[in-house]
Amino acid sequence: LFRRPWAFVTSVAHLEQLPPEGEIEVAFAGRSNVGKSSLINAITGVNGLARTSNTPGRTQMLNFFAAPESAVTLVDMPGYGYAQAPKSMVDAWTDLVFTYLQGRARLRRVFVLIDSRHGLKANDLEVMGLLDKAAVNYQIVLTKIDKIKPGQLTRVLDETAEKIRKRPAAHPQIIVTSSEKSTGLGEIRAEIFKLSAG
Ligand code: GDP
Repeated sequence: LFRRPWAFVTSVAHLEQLPPEGEIEVAFAGRSNVGKSSLINAITGVNGLARTSNTPGRTQMLNFFAAPESAVTLVDMPGYGYAQAPKSMVDAWTDLVFTYLQGRARLRRVFVLIDSRHGLKANDLEVMGLLDKAAVNYQIVLTKIDKIKPGQLTRVLDETAEKIRKRPAAHPQIIVTSSEKSTGLGEIRAEIFKLSAG
């Protein structure tokens, strides 16, 4: 699956532009700057596939990636949590994302990326609320673990596990990653492979 050449398919800012559903979709969500583009580029092995360092305030888009003869479509969800985001932008984000989540029968999982230095923030919990409401399975991925000490990692893992324990659509297992050090990439690929095989 991940030996294939992944390529950009389309960007969607309005729901009427959504492409037909692939056989299986797997999406990535997270606060801006969490390391989402870096992780998508790292797991696909395609540099520059997802654009890094999105400019705050830029049009919020869902980006779709596919590989030849693969059942899986990867979806890069627009980053959230910009400090200066006006309410109208937050509302547009929520509309686009929630409608997408509710309407995609073949969306098998959303990886919710959390910066391991910061842990879950209020807007991460809001997004998890949307996922629970839409009954879309999601799994927490801690990013940039090369930036923290082992003791801190243990603490953030414990705190995060406690916070997702009672959430209905949350996968109990947390994946720990560093795009910088290529940590945890195999685990994410294996999860996606399992979803596409099962
Ligand atoms: P996005 O806004 O979520 O797409 O985040 P980016 O992928 O653009 O990353 C934001 C910043 O974090 C960039 O400066 C990256 O170089 C950096 N970054 C991303 N992943 C890692 C990582 O695993 N380790 C470290 N140390 N830095 C990272």
